[in-house]
Formats: sequence, structure tokens, C-alpha cells
Amino acid sequence: MSAGGHLNAAGPLHAVRPLHAAVLGAGTMGTGIAQLLLQAGASVSLIDPAEAALKRARLSLLNLFERLHAKGRLAEEPGSLLSRLRLGRDHDLMRGAHWVLEAAPEDLDLKRDLFAAAARVEPAAKLATNTSTLSVTSIAAACPDPGKVIGLHFFNPPGLMRLVEVIPGVRTAPELVPAAVDLVRRLGREPVVAKDAPGFIVNRLARPFYLEAMRLHGEGLPVAAVDAALRGAGFRMGPFELLDLIGIDVNLAASESVYRAFYEEPRFRPHPLQRAMVEAGLLGRKTGRGFYPYDDSGDEARATVAAGSGGSGPGDDGPPPVPFGAASGSSAGPVFHVVGDGSVAAALREALPTTADPATADLVLDARLDAAPGDGVTPRAVLTWGRSAASAGEKLGFSLVPRPGGGTLSIELMAAGALPGEQPTAAVEAARDALEAAGVAVVVLPDVPGGAAFRVVARLCDEAVRALAEGLATAAELDLAMRLGVNYPAGPLEWGEALGLRDVHSALRSLQQETSDTRFAPHPRLARPAAPGAHGSTRGAMEAEET
Ligand code: NAD
Repeated sequence: MSAGGHLNAAGPLHAVRPLHAAVLGAGTMGTGIAQLLLQAGASVSLIDPAEAALKRARLSLLNLFERLHAKGRLAEEPGSLLSRLRLGRDHDLMRGAHWVLEAAPEDLDLKRDLFAAAARVEPAAKLATNTSTLSVTSIAAACPDPGKVIGLHFFNPPGLMRLVEVIPGVRTAPELVPAAVDLVRRLGREPVVAKDAPGFIVNRLARPFYLEAMRLHGEGLPVAAVDAALRGAGFRMGPFELLDLIGIDVNLAASESVYRAFYEEPRFRPHPLQRAMVEAGLLGRKTGRGFYPYDDSGDEARATVAAGSGGSGPGDDGPPPVPFGAASGSSAGPVFHVVGDGSVAAALREALPTTADPATADLVLDARLDAAPGDGVTPRAVLTWGRSAASAGEKLGFSLVPRPGGGTLSIELMAAGALPGEQPTAAVEAARDALEAAGVAVVVLPDVPGGAAFRVVARLCDEAVRALAEGLATAAELDLAMRLGVNYPAGPLEWGEALGLRDVHSALRSLQQETSDTRFAPHPRLARPAAPGAHGSTRGAMEAEET
């Protein structure tokens, strides 16, 4: 692929052998899949019962190809590409197809009927479904030869998203897997083979990003605070910004489907607040309002949100904030004393000016998971990965998830026992001033156990470890799928390793204790003894065990 992701590096398919593919469904995904096939040199039959959909698809392909051509990103003239496209309603257009790629609505009976028809019209064709939530095995069951059916799960828009999940069903012929991988590569996409399990990789492993964010919101955290915290941890968009973009209804349908498919496993339970948004017709950008308001152009209409500040200024009755630099007597700016030796302590030491003497520090940051109250060392904040500040017996808590690859540090601050909507205390204000003066982004939160970003990232990591333990895919494939499929700044397993898997495990265990909620119960593999020299290796020790 060239810059912009539109040309195919692998070269035209017809240079290898002329390929004819039929695409069933001329909607969002079918049109995008047809685009990739045409750009790779295949001839394509695009089949849809709706004339309007066919017209729209042709026009959108023409416009796209003209735009790409004008930018020099197309190897072929638009007219030449479109000369290989046939559009129609008739299933006979599948005749002669080597591959039939189905991108019709997400309805099991409809997909089964289509595959039975494809097998009748072109018995030799290989059949692929783009389903995101149904079982490939179940779709294949209606085919005379289920061995010919495989899942090829493209992401939206297929022309830009590099990942394609390749999903063999239980009865898929083994030789179909390399054939599908080959097809995906020729389309210039990155194949990742995964088991036919609910949500495959991405739609399952990404669930905590939305579900845990909804839980935090349900506990009173403003959506802007949660988004700021997650952006601070390195995500390009916060969960609520992303939900508004995807469509809150589309995301709820995916959550409900995974929840049902896992027989109502509590950690996948959708949140009533999300259902309420859908019932109120607030679906996100497409309806002009979701978690944020949008103007007619779809741009966010909210005023700049004081993300997570929880209020406009310090409480009226507290003492005035101590100016930063006061403790050290320095005019150069605040200094910090950092306690601990895990990933958080390391990130703090790298980002902040530190002193070895707590007495001369403007703020002591105790990054130990089991830090006890500070015996009068003030001002002082303890890491709250696995608990609330109140339960740590400290006035002030902090949490952070170091950004993969570095970048501005973002810290969440919470006063012990602070409730949603309360004004920040003087201690919080003083700590915020000191941290901001040192170049750190600060999000002030109520005293929620575990903080926002850590809870989300830890649950992503735990879900990935579960998937690995189930053999859904290898650790490297799981990480790759999440980086390419949803643009995460790091794969959840490599991220967990960077944070310290055993720390993540013990923090989740304490969260489970403080909240009495089983969704935090960590998978035992998070705490497995590590390979020598490693903190806890998913990619090393765990895989070595499996192979
Ligand atoms: P869409 O609604 O945009 O398009 C579906 C098209 O299928 C419509 O044009 C419809 O007229 C057509 N159709 C209806 N009955 C048909 C039939 N009998 N034969 C052929 N075509 C028929 O839907 P979409 O978003 O393109 O989704 C298609 C599939 O791809 C679904 O299974 C969906 O779960 C999956 N998917 C969607 C996305 C996404 O983000 N939109 C991402 C990955 C996978």
C-alpha cells in the first residue's frame, strides 16, 4: 500500500491469475471490499437486491477512484477499473466466481440462504462471510459443503483499515485458510487468523474499552473526564468520542451480541445508560447528539470541555493552594519525590524533576501498590491502581497509565472520598498546580477505585490474556489485531507487560475486593511465574507453554 493506504503493494491479482469475485451486498462494506478487489486487478460482480444500493455503490466507487487518481494514488485509470465491475440483482452473476464474499445484513437466516444459493450457482467457489458477530460455523452449516466457507472480517472502511480477521469455522477445510490468507495479502491487507469464537479478536478484546468506560460514567464520572484520561494513556480517541463516531446503537448491538454469545458472562454485561441513550434516539454524530452535541456538519459543538476538572476552581472553604516550589524554596519550579520501582515510578522519574529527600519535595508520589499511609509526610499522594484513595488511608490518590512510546504524561488525581461533581479540594488544587507546572496533564476525578485509564487498560489486558489462554490466536497476533483493527497505541499484551503483569493482576484482585465485582477477577495467567529475567511474559513464557 502507498501512503494513504489505497494502492496495493502486492500488485494486481490478474498478474498472478485472473480472479473473478462476487460480492453480495452493495452497502458500506460490500462497496469497500469491491474497491479493494478492483484495485487488485480482479473482476467483480457486485450483487444487491436494492437498485438504489447498486447505484450508490457505483457512484461512490467512481468518485473514490477519481479522487485517488487525481492524487496519483491509483495505478489504473478509474474507467479501466470500473470496466471490470458488473452490478446487478441476479444471483447468476456469481457464475464463474472463484470467491464469493458476502457483506449482506447481519442476519443468520439471510446469510445462510445466500450461501446455499452461492453453492448452487457456483459450486466450485470459495465462500467468505464478512459477519462481525455471527458464528462462521453456524452460517456454513446450511451449505452442502461447509468446508468451503470461511470468515473474512474486514474493518470499516476496508480501503483504509489494514486488518482482516480470517476465521475458519469448525468444518472449514484446512487448505482454505492459506488460500484466504493469500487473498487478503493480495488485497494489500494484513491477515490475522483467529478461532471462530464470539466477537473473534477485535470485537471481543475491545469490549472493556467501552464497557468499563460506561461503568465509570455510571459511577458519576463525566464523559469528558473519562475521554481525557484515556487519551492521556495514549488512545487517539476517548471511548465516548469513539462511541459517538461509531454510533451508540451500533456499539450496543455489538456489546449485546457478545454478551449473549458468552451466555451472559458478567464481564461483558452492557450498561443500562447506553441502552437509555439509544432509546432516547441519541445515537452519536449521525443524530447530531450522543454523549456530546454536534453541529450540522458533524463537528463537535461543545465548548472546550474542562475535562474532568469536576468544577471551576478550588473549594471555597479550604485553605488557599500552596504555591508550587514553596516546599523546596526553589524558584525553578516544583520538585517531586517518587517512591517505588514499578512502571509508574519509572515513568514519573523520567517525566518529573525529583528530589531524594521527601522533606524538600512539593509533592510525594508513592507509586507502590501496597503503600501504607505516609506517617505525616505531606503533601503526598498514593497510587490507586487497585483501590480508592479513601481505602488507602491517604488524603490524595493518583493514577496513571504510562503512554506506550512515551509522550506527555497524564495523571489522574482524586481526593479521598471525593464524590462526583464535588469541587476539587485544596490538596488536589495544589497537587494539580505542581504537576501542571512540571508539564504533566492532570485530570481530576472523584475517588473511584482504580482510576479511569488503569481500569480500562487493565481490563483490556485481562481480556487479551483470557483470549490467549483459550488459544484464540497467538500473543503477537492478538496484539497486532488490536493495533491495526482499532488503532490502539500498543497491543494489550505488550502493554500489560510494560505495566507489569503481576502488578496488573494484583491491582485487579484488590479492585475485585474493594468493589465486590467479579468483572475485575483477574485471569490466573496474569500472575503466572515469569520467564527468568522477565516481569511476567505473555509472549514468551505463555506461548512457550502452548507450543
Ligand atoms: P449495509 O446495510 O451498509 O449494507 C448491506 C447491503 O446488503 C445493503 O445494500 C442491502 O440492500 C444488501 N442486501 C440486503 N439483502 C441482500 C441479499 N439478500 N443479497 C445481497 N445483498 C443484500 O451493511 P454493512 O455495514 O455493509 O454490513 C454488511 C456486513 O458486514 C454485516 O454482516 C456487518 O455485520 C458486517 N460488517 C460491518 C462493518 C461496519 O462497520 N459497517 C464492519 C465489519 C463487518
